[in-house]
Amino acid sequence: MKKIGITTTVPVEVLIAAGYKVIDLNNVFVTAEDYQKYLDIAEKDGFPKNLCAWIKGIYGACIYNGISEIVGVVGGDCSNTKALVDVLSMKGIKVHFFAYPHERSIENVKSAIDDFMKTFNVSLDEVEEIRKRLNEIRLQLIKIDKLTYIDNKVSGFENHLYQVSMSDFNGDVDKYERLLIEKVDELKKRNPNDKKLRLAYLGVPPMTADLYEFVEKFDAHFVYNEVQREFAFPRFAEAENIYEQYYDYTYPYDIDFRLQIIKDQINERKIDAVIHYTQAFCHRAIEDIIIKEKLNIPVLNIEGDKSTNLDARTKLRIEAFLDMLIDMKEMTK
Ligand code: SF4
Repeated sequence: MKKIGITTTVPVEVLIAAGYKVIDLNNVFVTAEDYQKYLDIAEKDGFPKNLCAWIKGIYGACIYNGISEIVGVVGGDCSNTKALVDVLSMKGIKVHFFAYPHERSIENVKSAIDDFMKTFNVSLDEVEEIRKRLNEIRLQLIKIDKLTYIDNKVSGFENHLYQVSMSDFNGDVDKYERLLIEKVDELKKRNPNDKKLRLAYLGVPPMTADLYEFVEKFDAHFVYNEVQREFAFPRFAEAENIYEQYYDYTYPYDIDFRLQIIKDQINERKIDAVIHYTQAFCHRAIEDIIIKEKLNIPVLNIEGDKSTNLDARTKLRIEAFLDMLIDMKEMTK
């Protein structure tokens, strides 16, 4: 099977319909035991020190693993991806493009996906058939998400991990479905946790995944992973077709639509506070100003860079934040 690398969530249905095995290069990078080697490859090839680690990691993962064909998302995701794919193209890697439209309208999304289907020479019927199949798997994720925020049986990290893997279905759709079905059965049998504080994680997936375990030491747990949940298309059942599905996806579009979904989830999940993760050297860090202004619950912004572990200063800030929230919660009892 031909392999194709992706730099973020794209209409994966199109690639699978075209016969590709899809590999999310972000996941290859961040789950590698020796992830630093990917950053070193990028910096040795001239990527600047003061550039987002995800971009360098994607580059290193692509080169190191001999990926010869990729889809670069050059609209709606990351302003650095265009330059990244130019370098990859110069290195001989075949680059296809996908661009989420700047203005979110169903016509614009349709036009972008139609172009993408033309690139890969697949029909709408073929794509819809794959979408139906993938939505069966997305249903398992909805069960895991409910087991997280209703039953309190799934850790924030597990919720993050299973959702983030939905961008490429872990490279094997059938195998991933089997794994999720088994997981759902196993998770149902667990006892619920009794953590006091219910947290939301907002922002791009963290480099520092130890964040999830760290907050649990302070009687808190994450019951909502915002962007990761979007990767799993939780509202797929409301979409009549692939165009509506990718129209109803918050991450690449304007912040207002994103905030609307976040606010709904904060209410539904009875969330006490938000930790907003931003990546060093990422333009999305500016959104923190709007998030803090528009949400009416406490928000702590933390920043990660190259390390996959929280630094001492960030740990101290999180601890102080959670202590304050627990005191506040006890006072209002
Ligand atoms: S964290 Fe920001 S700069 Fe880095 S790849 Fe994602 S969107 Fe781009």
